[in-house]
Amino acid sequence: MTKKYMLDESLLPRQWYNILPDLPEPLPPPISPATGKPVNPEELEAIFPKEIVRQEVSQEKFIPIPEEVRDVYRIWRPTPLIRATRLEKALKTPARIYFKFEGVSPPGSHKPNTAVAQAYYNMREGVERLTTETGAGQWGSALAFATNLFNLKLTVYMVKASYLQKPYRAILMKIWGAEVLSSPSDRTKTGREVLAKDPENPGSLGIAISEAIEDAVTHENTKYSLGSVLNHVLMHQTVIGLEAIEQMKLADDFPDYVVGCVGGGSNFGGLAYPFYMLVHDGKAPKKVSLVAIEPTAAPSLTKGEYIYDFGDTAGLTPLLKMYTLGHDFIPPPIHAGGLRYHGAAPTLSLLRKHDIVKSVAYDQVSVFQAADFFAKTEGIVPAPESAHAIKAVIDLAMEARQKNEEKVILFNLSGHGLLDLAAYADYHQGKLPAYEYPAEKVQESMQKLKAFLATIGQS
Ligand SMILES: *Cc1c(COP(=O)(O)O)cnc(C)c1O
Repeated sequence: MTKKYMLDESLLPRQWYNILPDLPEPLPPPISPATGKPVNPEELEAIFPKEIVRQEVSQEKFIPIPEEVRDVYRIWRPTPLIRATRLEKALKTPARIYFKFEGVSPPGSHKPNTAVAQAYYNMREGVERLTTETGAGQWGSALAFATNLFNLKLTVYMVKASYLQKPYRAILMKIWGAEVLSSPSDRTKTGREVLAKDPENPGSLGIAISEAIEDAVTHENTKYSLGSVLNHVLMHQTVIGLEAIEQMKLADDFPDYVVGCVGGGSNFGGLAYPFYMLVHDGKAPKKVSLVAIEPTAAPSLTKGEYIYDFGDTAGLTPLLKMYTLGHDFIPPPIHAGGLRYHGAAPTLSLLRKHDIVKSVAYDQVSVFQAADFFAKTEGIVPAPESAHAIKAVIDLAMEARQKNEEKVILFNLSGHGLLDLAAYADYHQGKLPAYEYPAEKVQESMQKLKAFLATIGQS
C-alpha cells in the first residue's frame, strides 16, 4: 500500500521563505510613472501597513510567521498532500502524481494564506478598515474571512458584471461581515464619474481598483490590500511549498516537476519557490523543473514581453518590471476568472526570463476536459484556474507513459470548483469557445507602452 495522505500537524511552518536574496540578479525596483525613478518604499505606506512594506523589500531569507497568524492557519493547515493514485491508474502512467490541496481552506482557495497575514499586520498597526477590489470574488471572500477574524472592517468593490452574475461569493463575503459594493459605485469620485457618463457601465477590475485605492487614501485608519503579484503576497504563500517539501519526505519521494497555474503568480510561487530554494542551496536530491501554466486567452509568460508596465488597467500604480500583455489588455470572457491578469509577478517574471521557470499555455476547452477527468477519477471538482495545472500534469503523465519513465509530478490544486458550477454547465453544453489572445494585440499594446516609457526615460 502506498500512503495516500501526507499529514502531520507539526508540519505547519514557523517562517515564510523570501526569494528576494536568492534571485539570480537583483529584482528591478518599481518605478514611478511620473518621474521614471524608483519608488521610495515609504511612499507605499500611504496604502499598506509598515510591516507589509518592510516585507515587500526585505532581503532576509526567512521571515517569522506571527503566532497569531499560525493560530488562524491551524483552522485548515497543514493542507493535505495527496497521491493521485486513481488518476495515475486511469492514465496508465508510470508517473507518480501528487497534489497539494489548498481547496480545504474555508474560502476554498490558497488566497487566505496571505489575507490572514495582511489582516493581522493591519490590525496590529491600528488600521480599522481595509478596502480591496475583487473580480469573481475569490480574493474578496478570502479577505473577508481574514478581516472577520481580526475584527477589521472590510469594503469590497466587486466588478458589477460579476456581482450580478456570480452572487454566491458576495454572499460569502457578507456572511463574514464585509460590505460589498457593486463597482462602479456612488461611494467614490471615480465611481460617480463613470456612472455619470454611463449608468449601465458593467465595471472592470481597473475601475474597482481605482475605487478601492481612492477609498483607502481619502479615509483615516483605512488601508488597501492586494491578493497577488507583489513580493509579500508570494512570500506568504510559501507555506504551501514549505509544507510540501516535508510532506514529500513523508512520501519518501521528490518531484521532477512542480506545476501550478498562474494568474498573478501567487499560488505557483507559493508551491514552487521553496523548491527553487532547495536547488539554489544545493539541497535538492535531483533536478526539478518548475512549470507555470496559463490560459491561451491571457498568456503573459508565453506571449508577453518583459518590460516595465502598470500593475493595473487604469494606469494608477507604479510600473513593475514583468512579463505583460500591456495594461490595456482586455480580458476575454473565459471562466478562469483568477487567470485574467495582464502581467505576472515581478519575481516570477525574472525567473522566467532566466529560464528557471518554464511556461505553457492551454485553451479553456482542453482545460475543462482535464478538470472533468480529474473530478471523475479523484472525486474533487477543481477550480477552473487550478484545472490549467491539471491539464499540464495529464500531458506530462502521458509523456512519461510513452517514454516509460517513472517521473514524479507535484502540482498545486489551488482551489475547489464548487462555486464555479455554472462554468462546468457551459462546458457540458459545449458553450465554451477556445480563445487564443492574438499576438498582434500584444504588439499594439507594446508600441504604445514603449512610446510612453520613452517619455520618462525608460526602455
Ligand atoms: C486567484 C486564484 C488563482 C490565480 O491567482 P494566483 O495569484 O496566480 O495564484 C488561481 N487559483 C485559484 C483557485 C484562485 O482563486
